[in-house]
Amino acid sequence: MSSTLSMAFEGVLCGRPAAQVLEEIERFHGFPAPGVVVGAFMVDWAQEHIGSGAEADAIVETLRCLPDAVQLFTPCTLGNGWMRVLDWDRFALTLYDRNSRWGCRVWLNVSKTAAYPAIHNWFLKRVPKQALPLESLLESIFEARRAVLSARPVIVTDFLRRPKKESVGICPGCGEAFDPKAGDSCKGCLHGAYFKDDLG
Ligand SMILES: [Zn+2]
Repeated sequence: MSSTLSMAFEGVLCGRPAAQVLEEIERFHGFPAPGVVVGAFMVDWAQEHIGSGAEADAIVETLRCLPDAVQLFTPCTLGNGWMRVLDWDRFALTLYDRNSRWGCRVWLNVSKTAAYPAIHNWFLKRVPKQALPLESLLESIFEARRAVLSARPVIVTDFLRRPKKESVGICPGCGEAFDPKAGDSCKGCLHGAYFKDDLG
């Protein structure tokens, strides 16, 4: 797949050439989304803090963009349970050693974006998307690198690794297998269907 970006991005990011980072993001996410690119810089910084030897788990504080950066550039995925995703809509992530619980939280620092108008306007949605060409925004992100981020060491105390499933029940409503810790019926039956049968 050829990149939609004509410019060359220099440097190494998440252990590979920056241009390759953009290609991987484009392939996985559909396009080189600025949020995932910023996320790559965040993962890169957090990885540097905790060291390559650590068996790291991840906590991501937004559903938008950042989970893809973690899934692309760390071994943590939603499916393998090494990444927890919180629906807090905060542009922040933590990588931490799963044994010691010591880690690093990195976030996009709004006050630091003031020096980078493109990033500032994109992040705070101050200007319409059409007025912010992707290439110049990405250029600004690569110029800023860590200058728009903050990082600090943390000890993780909550949202640690997803607990293992202990037992499997059969839901009386739908007859499908479910985790009985959820209640007497599966969450699908408690919530109600998100679909209807296609009788056509
Ligand atoms: Zn059910």
